[in-house]
Amino acid sequence: MKLLEGKIALITGASRGIGRGIALKFAEQGANVAFTYLSSVEKGQELEKELQAFGVKAKGYRSDAADFKAAEELVNAVVTDFGTIDVCVNNAGITRDTLLMRMSEQQWDEVINANLKSVFNVTKAVQKPMLKQRKGSIINMSSVVGVKGNGGQSNYAASKAGIIGFTKSVALELGSRNIRCNAIAPGFIETEMTAALDEKVVEGWRNNIPLKRGGTVDDVANATIFLASDMSAYITGQVINVCGGMLT
Ligand code: NAP
Repeated sequence: MKLLEGKIALITGASRGIGRGIALKFAEQGANVAFTYLSSVEKGQELEKELQAFGVKAKGYRSDAADFKAAEELVNAVVTDFGTIDVCVNNAGITRDTLLMRMSEQQWDEVINANLKSVFNVTKAVQKPMLKQRKGSIINMSSVVGVKGNGGQSNYAASKAGIIGFTKSVALELGSRNIRCNAIAPGFIETEMTAALDEKVVEGWRNNIPLKRGGTVDDVANATIFLASDMSAYITGQVINVCGGMLT
């Protein structure tokens, strides 16, 4: 039996990296997948075909999660196309790293809007179909940086810490309606982006992780499958660190 058989999932920011990995794993587990992208139009179109090859329904939407109205329109479109939404993965995110001394108001606002306001926008819209069907699982992509902070990432860390407070509050508000809300805090996950970094620097990071390796997109996707599935039916308001023991 597939873990997400017949479930309808919405994943934001799935054209690359972790979101793309989650979309593929969800489809493999039998979920019908609606996903978004913003600038990577071709990659989004390719992913749609790859997901459909699993024999599930899949559709990509170009939508800015940071835009309140666009998020509402997105959720309405997904409900029209798929019928409802059982699982929502708020994954879309960006970085604009720099020291506080050099950080512009724009760099602060862009990160807070794309990472934190987006989670509010999409969750607020998605709670309607979930309330109607009296079930749902919302999974928000935070970061270990949101738990412990990181020099040069005060905007990013604040957005990811904000996600944790939001997640716990939504879990408390919607628990009585059988809607669960959890966060995942990935550590250092090796993606195409990190492949471009200096190998010596990356090796240093790996050595500081108890499991002695960077995480994979699949490591994060597997935790997301668990939180999306009925295997986690009694888990809400939690943060799962997927970080190889980095936060221990
Ligand atoms: P990534 O490779 O840069 O991919 C980010 C995705 O988000 C892309 O699909 C991008 O779409 C989309 N996106 C960005 N802004 C958007 C917006 N306003 N509306 C809709 N989609 C938007 O990043 P990643 O490494 O996979 O990270 C995914 C999530 O995990 C992020 O929230 C990140 O903060 C978190 N995370 C990552 C790591 C890590 O080590 N990689 C660690 C901890 C947490 P387009 O390409 O179309 O613009």
